[in-house]
Amino acid sequence: MKAIAVTPRVKDSVHLADLPMPTLEQVPLGRGVLVKVLKVGVDATDREINDALYGNAPPGFDFLVLGHESFGKVVEVGSKVKHVKPGDYVTCTVRRPGGSIYDRIGRSDITSEEVYYERGINLRHGFLTEYFVDDAEFIVRMPIGLKHLHVLAEPMSCAAKAIEQAFEAQKRLQVWEPKLAFVTGAGQIGLLATLILRLRGLEVYTLARGEAPCLKSEIVHGLGSTYISTKHQSVKELAAKVGKPDLIVEATGSSAVAFEAMEILGHNGVEVWTSITGGQRTVQVPSDNLNLNWVLGNKLLLGSVNANYRHFEKGIADLALGEVTYPGVIERILTTPVKGLDNYREMMRLLVEDKEALKVYVEVADE
Ligand code: BGC
Ligand code: ZN
Repeated sequence: MKAIAVTPRVKDSVHLADLPMPTLEQVPLGRGVLVKVLKVGVDATDREINDALYGNAPPGFDFLVLGHESFGKVVEVGSKVKHVKPGDYVTCTVRRPGGSIYDRIGRSDITSEEVYYERGINLRHGFLTEYFVDDAEFIVRMPIGLKHLHVLAEPMSCAAKAIEQAFEAQKRLQVWEPKLAFVTGAGQIGLLATLILRLRGLEVYTLARGEAPCLKSEIVHGLGSTYISTKHQSVKELAAKVGKPDLIVEATGSSAVAFEAMEILGHNGVEVWTSITGGQRTVQVPSDNLNLNWVLGNKLLLGSVNANYRHFEKGIADLALGEVTYPGVIERILTTPVKGLDNYREMMRLLVEDKEALKVYVEVADE
């Protein structure tokens, strides 16, 4: 089988690799699910792996197959698999358990071990290939009516987890009724976080660099949120005008913005960081001031990464609700298809260079 891979730690090493066809027998106890890959999305993580910022090959390999945002069709299932059947559309979780207590209760997304195993990212091959097999516990069914949103299930699961964790953590306050949220960044996570918060009834401002009107601003408006171009209004100016938010979801990919947003969070608020910043950037922060305000305001900073099975289900449920609440808006994120695994160079070029591409994804096969 063809697969799109990198040689970890070698810059710009994206290439075509060869993998054997997987079989159900690779998964013990009749729990295997064999999936034909239809589409796979790529994001900044894939770009940074190809930039050799992180990512490791599975033991015994000198390459790592990319791709963690999967969408496919079930071909065959083991005798013990009941929740999906051949012909079903599915996606797949990304992280695989290590040895900590969290891993053992199905929460590898909050593993306490430093080493993590993620398909397409670290120590496990990804989905940018023709078929894959995995344990039923990681295979998530996608309703047929959401087939057109395919590769968004994985990024949506990450947004769903981030917001769920914020609400969970805020139970510390006994009553917390957030009204106003800022989302910094209007990439896929920022837009999907905007969707979830709007579905929860919050007033949302989504901030990004680009000037409106543009695709991002149109999607943001389509979701009933207000788009702010930071070229015209900084996050501080916005807070001075509309008030300090109860909740900030940070998804710009810029650590500088992550700290800047801390300066305007409201009392008892929570800021969730979701960006993976693989670089070495340093910025100065007004530390006395931040420290003082965060203590006096009982504020909470929360990091959130990855998602488990339950967050996928929650994310998919919100995609469905989103479709009936804001019809036709979510699919506008899916801007940039690339035909076939052979076009891996074009895939990477679009991911790196095309500033208009909100979402690059590979159409691996027709059904
Ligand atoms: C993926 C997550 C993953 C994270 C860290 C993100 O791009 O969507 O599933 O946990 O990178 O590797
Ligand atoms: Zn990702």
